[in-house]
Amino acid sequence: MKVGYVALIGRPNAGKSTLINKLLGEKVAIISDKPQTTRTSILGIKTTEKGQIIFLDNPGIHKPLHGLNKRMMNFVFSSLETSDLVCLLIDTTLRFGHGDQFVLDSLKDLKIPVILLINKVDIIKKDKILPQIDKYNKLYPFKEIIPISALRGTNVDILEEKIFENLPEAEKMYSDDEVSIQSQKFLLSEIIREKVLHHVREELPFVTATFIDTIEDRPDAKDGRAGKFIQARIFVEKDNQRKIIIGRRGSLIKTIGTEARKEIEHILDAKVYLDLQVRVKDKWRDSANVLDLIENQ
Ligand code: GDP
Ligand code: MG
Repeated sequence: MKVGYVALIGRPNAGKSTLINKLLGEKVAIISDKPQTTRTSILGIKTTEKGQIIFLDNPGIHKPLHGLNKRMMNFVFSSLETSDLVCLLIDTTLRFGHGDQFVLDSLKDLKIPVILLINKVDIIKKDKILPQIDKYNKLYPFKEIIPISALRGTNVDILEEKIFENLPEAEKMYSDDEVSIQSQKFLLSEIIREKVLHHVREELPFVTATFIDTIEDRPDAKDGRAGKFIQARIFVEKDNQRKIIIGRRGSLIKTIGTEARKEIEHILDAKVYLDLQVRVKDKWRDSANVLDLIENQ
């Protein structure tokens, strides 16, 4: 069997969550067109007859700027050290910048094979792809360079094949049906955060964090069907942001709650009562307490 850890890295919005979802065929990572929606590394597992790939989905690599980004950097590099292979995902529609160079420089020291994935090739002209491959070939000794469309699934099968080729021989580490071992609370909190971001993307790009306080069994009073009572908190930095999320007479928080509840009901296959509270926590991004809360749930 081929078994190993694969770190998936790339700038925010490169398409990491989309690719993970396509590879695993299940919603394990939150997708948003706002950067930095993935803050905690998410472990997804792909098991086939060839073996087992354990994916580490990483927050985008940034130069450390404030508390959150320093921690994000630690996640990125701690997961790289335990990886057998790195998949570096780039967005073909963006220019190669300082940040990308910084990533390549960091990778050079690691001595782990790197596969470069040129993503979103569905939105560029075909004749633009080969010159890009040439350019990246000169920049770094990549093990492979694969143009892909994470969204459409183009070349994702080839990627899977190449990943297996580059993994060591080992015994499986997880049972065949384990797709993701992230906690259920984390998954649910990410669903709520995704709904918030979809509605307030312009006003508050990076200031929301969500946290599940309670999940309790509560059968439906009428028909006795399985039910869950879930309490969650949405953190923002300022009172005006709290007001935006709540909306006029609570209209927006109601919409967010309904959308999140429907999706959670689908996942848990139970009737859900969702109680959402919006809390102001000044500078939560630098607060180790809140970060611990989110990461350890
Ligand atoms: P992440 O921040 O790296 O996890 O990026 P996401 O997976 O959340 O994707 C960011 C945005 O890019 C979303 O709007 C995706 O739909 C879009 N996207 C991802 N992959 C592709 C692709 O192959 N083609 C196109 N056209 N869009 C993509
Ligand atoms: Mg993501």
